[in-house]
Amino acid sequence: MSFCVAIDGPAAAGKGTISRAVAAQFGLAHLDTGLLYRAVGMKDGDPVVAAQTLCTEDLARPDLRSLTAGEAASRVAVIPEVRAALLEFQRRFAAREGGAVLDGRDIGTVICPDADVKLFVTASAEVRAARRFAEAGEGSLAEVLEQVRARDARDTGRADAPLRPAEDALILDTSSLSIDEAVTRACTLIAARRDAAVR
Ligand code: C5P
Repeated sequence: MSFCVAIDGPAAAGKGTISRAVAAQFGLAHLDTGLLYRAVGMKDGDPVVAAQTLCTEDLARPDLRSLTAGEAASRVAVIPEVRAALLEFQRRFAAREGGAVLDGRDIGTVICPDADVKLFVTASAEVRAARRFAEAGEGSLAEVLEQVRARDARDTGRADAPLRPAEDALILDTSSLSIDEAVTRACTLIAARRDAAVR
């Protein structure tokens, strides 16, 4: 059976950690789709060509988790041709035998509108900036908060595949949760949906 979990949400809401834990718990393959956009953003030249020719080595760059790569990703992510070039790869990944969890911004709305479970993981901008600042160790907290807000505005305001919860998404606000609590809640929600689907 192929079981697809779509996890969306803004930067640093905890969706990456939750997605990895969900994949391990339910035995699913995991794709962090933000990495695709980060890799495109960090390549030289025309971003559309970069997306069309993206290869495994591009995804292995050691600097893809940096704040710079996140910024570059959100700039190329507004280009419809870049999104179109990455669509098929993500859909094929989602349909793989054995099931998959994909995390990103438009998984439940555009990439996998028929996903078995859709989670929208969110948290306040202040909490997310504090988390990002603690893990990145770059810049100041005020700068990181400004970047988080700018990235939110770009991700929610773009015309093509803006960040928003799918109508049937379950909302998980992690502002006042520890990562363990957030993971437990996500796994409980997913298990309930999965059990209902096989019944
Ligand atoms: O999730 P992450 O912070 O790695 O994503 C970096 C950027 O890539 C996001 O801010 C967003 O602009 C873009 N992105 C996207 N669609 C996705 C995943 C990421 O537009 N499915």
